[in-house]
Amino acid sequence: MSELQPVRGTRDLIGEDHRRHQHIIDTARRVSASYGLEEWATPIFEDTRVFSRSLGESSDVVTKEMYSFQDRGGDSLTLRPEGTAGVCRALVTNGLTQALPQKVFYAGPMFRYERPQKGRYRQFHQIGAELIGTAEPLADAEVIACGWDILKALGIAHDVVLEVNTLGDRDSRTAYRAALIDYFTAHQAGLSEDSLARLERNPLRILDSKDEGDRRINAGAPTIHAHLTEAAAAFYAKLKDYLAGFGVPFVENPSIVRGLDYYGHTAFEFVTSRLGAQGTVMGGGRYDGLVEEMGGPPTPAVGWAAGIERLSMLLADVPAAPRPVAVVPVGEAAEAPALAVLQQLRHAGIRAEMAYRGNLKRRLERANRIGARAAVILGETEIARGVAQVKDFVSGAQQEVPVAELPTRLR
Ligand code: ATP
Ligand code: MG
Repeated sequence: MSELQPVRGTRDLIGEDHRRHQHIIDTARRVSASYGLEEWATPIFEDTRVFSRSLGESSDVVTKEMYSFQDRGGDSLTLRPEGTAGVCRALVTNGLTQALPQKVFYAGPMFRYERPQKGRYRQFHQIGAELIGTAEPLADAEVIACGWDILKALGIAHDVVLEVNTLGDRDSRTAYRAALIDYFTAHQAGLSEDSLARLERNPLRILDSKDEGDRRINAGAPTIHAHLTEAAAAFYAKLKDYLAGFGVPFVENPSIVRGLDYYGHTAFEFVTSRLGAQGTVMGGGRYDGLVEEMGGPPTPAVGWAAGIERLSMLLADVPAAPRPVAVVPVGEAAEAPALAVLQQLRHAGIRAEMAYRGNLKRRLERANRIGARAAVILGETEIARGVAQVKDFVSGAQQEVPVAELPTRLR
């Protein structure tokens, strides 16, 4: 048994790691609820087609990163690599395309077969937000403002920059695509193998490459802005006005394209310089075509997802380990009444613990070891008088307190 190890690219969340993780989810849940979002939980595995249709057969996630397997019934299933596809599938299969808009928050594990490194795992976790059924750029700005408020509430907003771009509408992209193919064809000698393969199929995604050589070529690539239709340019201008209205600071970055194929108009990322190559903590955009891909009616939608592990690494204020109250019986006869006190505290919502054995000295040592903030000491004389000695480990003070008053005094 000693050779068993966690699977490469997976991590255990224990102690402080788990508290950080949970704090991020709790905060995101609270902030997104203030924006009217409702939490959904969709299955962790889906029919493989949910992802191959949503991500596009040519995306990296589909071709290289998916954890797919055949179950005993012969169906091809996939551990979800991202959350949006499942939410859209659920929207359609639950008949909710008739009940729009839907404003959705989710949190949970995602799975991608990637090369593990700092900030990149094979099981990682995301929080995400989706506004489904709204075509106005106000929705794009609002969902970004929600993300920004979560980063602010986590105390990491000063470490990130919001970068926005537009991918235009279909006509804009057709024109831009042709310009990109011209440009990259002229530079194809310097392109990576992956990018060469994308040149004809999806040149837009070359802009998303992490390869050094590609990045140098990308720096000189034409931007979409000269190719935007009037309507797409107006949409983008409104987005920027609304962001200013929400008070969300941003910069424009014409090289931002979403890694996935179904995005149009708004694309954005919150990036940090503190995590090396894994600098994107939150990414999103508008995906008006996806619900239809899932078999629903044409439905506009916009959203984002953020990597909890990356947010966790930026978190400065680590939630402190909780400090319990230690209940300490003195002598065997005190144990039963001490149990009653222990439960009285717990039922009042106070974290309370009692050691399973030991004399007074041992129990106080243990209380110290588990970081107790106070000890409630119950000897036979105290019990007879309906009181307890409360030792406050923070101030060092000791005081006699009537048992009935313990919950109020210790809260
Ligand atoms: P990257 O460019 O870093 O590969 P991506 O474009 O694949 O990111 P998205 O699919 O947009 O990422 O997912 C949204 C967020 O989820 C990312 O910004 C990142 O914070 C996080 N994320 C994505 N893949 C991983 C991973 N393998 N491990 C940890 N976090 C991840
Ligand atoms: Mg990726």
